[in-house]
Amino acid sequence: MRQPRLTVLAGPTAVGKGTVSTFIRDNYPEVWLSVSATTRPPRPGEVEGVHYFFVSASDFDQLVESGEMLEWAVVHGRNRYGTLRSAVNAAMAEGKSVLLEIDLQGARQVKESMPEANFVFLAPPSWDEMVRRLVGRGTETEHEQQQRLETAKLELAAEPEFDHTVVNDNVQRAADELVSLMGLAARRR
Ligand code: 5GP
Repeated sequence: MRQPRLTVLAGPTAVGKGTVSTFIRDNYPEVWLSVSATTRPPRPGEVEGVHYFFVSASDFDQLVESGEMLEWAVVHGRNRYGTLRSAVNAAMAEGKSVLLEIDLQGARQVKESMPEANFVFLAPPSWDEMVRRLVGRGTETEHEQQQRLETAKLELAAEPEFDHTVVNDNVQRAADELVSLMGLAARRR
């Protein structure tokens, strides 16, 4: 029988990882999507235990100290986010197909501890499209936009570290491709 594997989905900021993982959570009950812990406060509509476990800074420290974080990172220089090791291990022990949607720093940590996992890079359809998504809102200064583009360049350069690339040209198509890379039939609810 095929060994259920852990799949990591990462990619540049603003590529639409969150949209793809939301689509998977809503449409593919066979995928066990890990719920991360974060020190970020909930946004309107976010539900504890569904979107994140919202924890205090000291609770997060405790989780790190006790070795409960499979990986963790400070994202966008602000809040901490991490994957809960015991929940992931329990899901894998039950034979579930586990998906982690995390940032690049986290993906690199998982690669250190679980090199046998399946690493999928979510890429923008093109550099121009990525520029449009990053600067499109027009709310940042020119300097901030340049910084974001520099970060995006560095993030795009990480693609060869991954086993597979999925292009996010269309959320539904990208989600289907990801699910088949997880070894599951692309069967939606
Ligand atoms: P947001 O605050 O918009 O929900 O997420 C911001 C970023 O945090 C996204 O790039 C997402 O991939 C990343 N992220 C969410 N959960 C985790 C996690 O458990 N570990 C790491 N390393 N990054 C995470």
